[in-house]
Amino acid sequence: MAIDTLKCVGCSDCVVACQTENNVPIGYCRDWIVEVTDGTYPNLTLENRSERCCHCSNAPCVRCCPTGASHKTEEGVVLVTHSDCIGCAACITSCPYDARYTHPEGYVDKCTFCYHRLADGLLPACVSVCPTKCMYFGDIDNPESTISEVLKNRKWKLLIPEAGTDPKLYFLI
Ligand code: SF4
Ligand code: SF4
Ligand code: SF4
Repeated sequence: MAIDTLKCVGCSDCVVACQTENNVPIGYCRDWIVEVTDGTYPNLTLENRSERCCHCSNAPCVRCCPTGASHKTEEGVVLVTHSDCIGCAACITSCPYDARYTHPEGYVDKCTFCYHRLADGLLPACVSVCPTKCMYFGDIDNPESTISEVLKNRKWKLLIPEAGTDPKLYFLI
């Protein structure tokens, strides 16, 4: 997934869409907005970022899960099988992005890249509602995909790359 920080207006539509689509309990979230201001008055900049699990290639949450509940699909999506999760929270501790939470029902939950929608050929809920169309989603292993083109033609950054998790959430800058 790639998110254009130059077009995101911080409206939180993506957060509401996620909570509705995925029955996220009130008080919890799978995605959230971060606002970062920089500079010195009057020369200030504001960056809005819609953040979520980065579906890391080298995911510590998958490695440390004692039951295999946290796993990666063949497409590279990191998921939690709720029925196999014992709620030990090792994955929450291991995630540098603070992307997971313990659901009131006892299992750990987080962004799934809306895996259930992908199987039907739909985009993730957050991507589908964004009013500024600032979110891109697709197969970065396919050089002809829109997201590959975007990443080729735009400058982008990763969050906390020094953590070494090889995140797959790109922020266009
Ligand atoms: Fe930003 Fe789009 Fe989310 Fe609104 S819906 S906060 S514009 S990413
Ligand atoms: Fe795991 Fe956190 Fe990476 Fe998501 S962002 S794959 S929860 S380490
Ligand atoms: Fe929520 Fe789906 Fe977007 Fe992940 S991809 S933040 S689960 S709406």
